[in-house]
Amino acid sequence: MKPAPFAYAKARSLDHAIELLADAEARVLAGGQSLIATLNMRLSQPSLLVDINGVGGLDRITLENGTVEIGALTRHAQAERSPEIARHAPLIALAMPQIGHPAIRNRGTIGGSIAFADPAAELPACLLALGGEIDVAGPTGRRTVKADDFFKALFETALTPRDVLTAIRVPAATADTRVGFSEFARRHGDYAMAGLAACALADTGRLRDVRLAFFGVGATPMRARKAEAALAGDDVDASIAALAEDIDPPDDVQASGAVKRHLAGVLLRRVARQLAEPQP
Ligand SMILES: Cc1cc2nc3c(=O)[nH]c(=O)nc-3n(C[C@H](O)[C@H](O)[C@H](O)COP(=O)(O)OP(=O)(O)OC[C@H]3O[C@@H](n4cnc5c(N)ncnc54)[C@H](O)[C@@H]3O)c2cc1C
Repeated sequence: MKPAPFAYAKARSLDHAIELLADAEARVLAGGQSLIATLNMRLSQPSLLVDINGVGGLDRITLENGTVEIGALTRHAQAERSPEIARHAPLIALAMPQIGHPAIRNRGTIGGSIAFADPAAELPACLLALGGEIDVAGPTGRRTVKADDFFKALFETALTPRDVLTAIRVPAATADTRVGFSEFARRHGDYAMAGLAACALADTGRLRDVRLAFFGVGATPMRARKAEAALAGDDVDASIAALAEDIDPPDDVQASGAVKRHLAGVLLRRVARQLAEPQP
């Protein structure tokens, strides 16, 4: 299929992008890796694409005051190769090679992945596990949304169609930070059947502030709060048992809910092992 007709405009600045997005049916175009597919399948029929690729300053990775900021236009490949991310945001570094294939990672952007909010995508879950934040610019100004409040429903976020996601921020890892990541996909690079991104602190030999963010098991990435509490109590079996209360995966094209529930338990055992090990 071919996309329905649409107009195209290249934004010169962030303000210009927001001005162009005043058009009722406009959509932001970033890496185009998800948007163009939805247009071609006519799942989406915007009247105008607002290309933000020429907007300066949105592709920086910076470390400031214990926080790593990643600009929305940072390509997946750029993040994958970034020494700052490897050192200060190791959970994101673990996840990056699992996103699609090199050609997709060369074009796809961090902001696009978070804005698109595919429930089986890696980065939204990492952002949730890290307790990150999302910076947004819109017609009423700028605002920051916590990852816990950002993912609302299937492909629905706290963004309005008038907004541009400008950056994400995560706390920089410290000597006490432990992270874990694992996923099941049919083939390397496919969206996950089920996955888990995790973060915790371990200053006393025990885990605390455990955050487990599952993906591919519901309409949004989701915290498993009862399992987190059990893992902080050092009880992996109880943590896995608690998943029955935390998640209720629906059947989808990848697997039945029962299979996903089983996979979630296997992932949790693997990730608990990663969190238990001292990390460089
Ligand atoms: C074959 C294939 C396999 C893939 N596998 C995976 C995978 O395993 N894991 C994974 O996570 N992803 C996967 N992807 C998706 C890839 O990561 C995309 O790059 C990403 O989802 C969207 O990023 P983008 O920059 O291409 O956004 P686009 O396609 O340009 O945009 C996607 C959506 O987000 C909106 N948007 C984009 N940027 C912004 C912004 N800054 N502000 C507001 N709205 C914005 C757009 O309007 C659109 O609605 C795959 C894609 C393909 C084609």
